[in-house]
Amino acid sequence: MTARPIDGREIAARIRAGVAAEAAALERSSGIRPGLAAVLVGDDPASATYVKMKRKACEEAGLASRVIRLPAETSQEELLSRVTELNADPGIHGILVQLPLPTQIDERAVVRAVDPDKDVDGFHPLNVGRVALGELDETFVPATPAGILRLLDETGVELRGAEAVVLGRSAIVGLPTALLLLHRSATVTICHSGTRDLASHTRRADVLVAAVGKPGFVTAAMVKPGATVIDVGINRVTDGDGKPRLVGDVDFDQVSNVAGWLTPVPGGVGPMTIAMLLENTLAAARRAPGVMGAAEARR
Ligand code: NDP
Repeated sequence: MTARPIDGREIAARIRAGVAAEAAALERSSGIRPGLAAVLVGDDPASATYVKMKRKACEEAGLASRVIRLPAETSQEELLSRVTELNADPGIHGILVQLPLPTQIDERAVVRAVDPDKDVDGFHPLNVGRVALGELDETFVPATPAGILRLLDETGVELRGAEAVVLGRSAIVGLPTALLLLHRSATVTICHSGTRDLASHTRRADVLVAAVGKPGFVTAAMVKPGATVIDVGINRVTDGDGKPRLVGDVDFDQVSNVAGWLTPVPGGVGPMTIAMLLENTLAAARRAPGVMGAAEARR
């Protein structure tokens, strides 16, 4: 069997075009242009790249974007006061604080300081709780898990009753993905570093989501023939010729001979993450006070 690829770039481009059209319509009807603020503390190159990509995506979709760059030695008090200003800024509908933060800052305190109604990353405990309860229209679903579910929907694979196995239980990927699959009535198993005989779980999976952070971790022998495999991993490896390259958590060459559907890396989950962040920012603007139909947007 040769797995069918799930083209995250094409699907994400469609979503971004949809956000652009809807944001333009919102601006025409209400005068409100959805705005996203990204706070970047320090000069971690990966964080700077992510923020740049988010800003570019916002601009291409016609959303307002603001980047607040703060030095690595910024105090927690200073960062919290910037977040408070953004919470009160009517031109900003979505706030993201790029993680990780420097060690002198308590990440939890910062995540809790973001207004839950502007928390487009979906990291505030109130929004995490809403995801856990399945109150998905009242919350912001974190972008990567939301993107994973959208990719699964694009395949047309039936989730109700499916055996779904999620490798990884992080707060930003594994756990919310498992909750979303559960709310879609899949039978969900979450595996982690304490799981015994991992392959006995993964081999039962109709839907397998790999979010472990280890290159080529999922081999063909771990995959049920015909399974839908979503590879979330982004791992930088160096080829024999010394060239750096990005690979996923799934051994693509092996698993593509066994799986029914498989996402590539790059070009699978990665592009979806930014597309879903834009959708969340649009949703935040629609729910903002003063927008006509804000009550409907919440429902
Ligand atoms: P974390 O490191 O936070 O979590 C990794 C998870 O994998 C943990 O739950 C850990 O278990 C589990 N794990 C590690 N080793 C094993 C093992 N040998 N067997 C079973 N489980 C194991 O990573 P993230 O969730 O943040 O990210 C996962 C991957 O996804 C990374 O490659 C990251 O770069 C990528 N990523 C991609 C995004 C995208 O947009 N495409 C967005 C976010 C992340 P335990 O909890 O027990 O330690």
